[in-house]
Amino acid sequence: MADLIPFDDRDGKLWLDGKLVPWRDAKIHVLSHGLHYASSVFEGERMYSGRIYKLEEHTSRLFESARILDMTIPFTERQINEASVLACETQGFKDAYVRPVVWRGSEQMSVAGQANKIHVAVAAWQWGSYFDPKEKMKGIRLGISRWRRPAPDTAPTAAKAAGLYMICTISKHEAEADGVHDALMYDYRGYVAEATGANVFFVQDGKLLTPTPDCFLNGITRQSVMALARARQIPVIERHIKPEELSGFSECFLTGTAAEVTPVAEIGPYKFKPGQITETLLTDYHADVNRPVSAISLSAA
Ligand code: PMP
Repeated sequence: MADLIPFDDRDGKLWLDGKLVPWRDAKIHVLSHGLHYASSVFEGERMYSGRIYKLEEHTSRLFESARILDMTIPFTERQINEASVLACETQGFKDAYVRPVVWRGSEQMSVAGQANKIHVAVAAWQWGSYFDPKEKMKGIRLGISRWRRPAPDTAPTAAKAAGLYMICTISKHEAEADGVHDALMYDYRGYVAEATGANVFFVQDGKLLTPTPDCFLNGITRQSVMALARARQIPVIERHIKPEELSGFSECFLTGTAAEVTPVAEIGPYKFKPGQITETLLTDYHADVNRPVSAISLSAA
């Protein structure tokens, strides 16, 4: 499996600071500000059948994340869009995961980091789009994390910043050690927030419910799925959701670039039965990401 090849020991090229370089040469020094102080932001994108889904939206979020961390990317959004496509093309990929990353370099090793060069890399690796709705509809199992999404005045919650993933990795490890796939995280107020790398949706009485993204990422997949639901006349409600409400929801699924639409069967003591609305949106999302370039994207509305 491609996933087992170490990420620093692969053939081909990736885009680094303006040009394609041999994959194994794309190295940083141990004294990098990004590594010590988490001055790093990134994106996760997918190319389907030769097109990166919502590429411009991802690139623009990358720039916004960098801006929030006081980093100015020394390229234009257009250059990063082109770099993302190039990172796939140079590897000969049509279905791939694309990872742009921005970080502060090694010029200044202190909390202050203004003198550091801002580096940008984009790498792509193969990630075939597997689609077996029957298998997926069994649903995954989630635990409940002891970590909470922080308040917007505690951490830069609107940025897709490396530092915010510290509690996601711990939560995910604990979930896997407990024998479940992932963890649901509450927020600093105790409301239902999201999973460790994906947003969460629920179904109640034919309506779609999802937490208001006021202290976590308003995912691009989340926005696409909401648009797809509305196109099907499924009412969509964004509001704060209390944990005790989970017992009253019939269906649950996660959304994210990597997760796509992933049905959920269980969150801690709460059980769900992936059903009609989940299956419809899972299928619609699959169709949307694979829509030919010339066709009008429903979720672009
Ligand atoms: N929340 C977190 C913590 C994530 O890592 C992701 C994946 N980027 C998402 C939500 C979903 O975002 P998107 O749909 O833009 O991939």
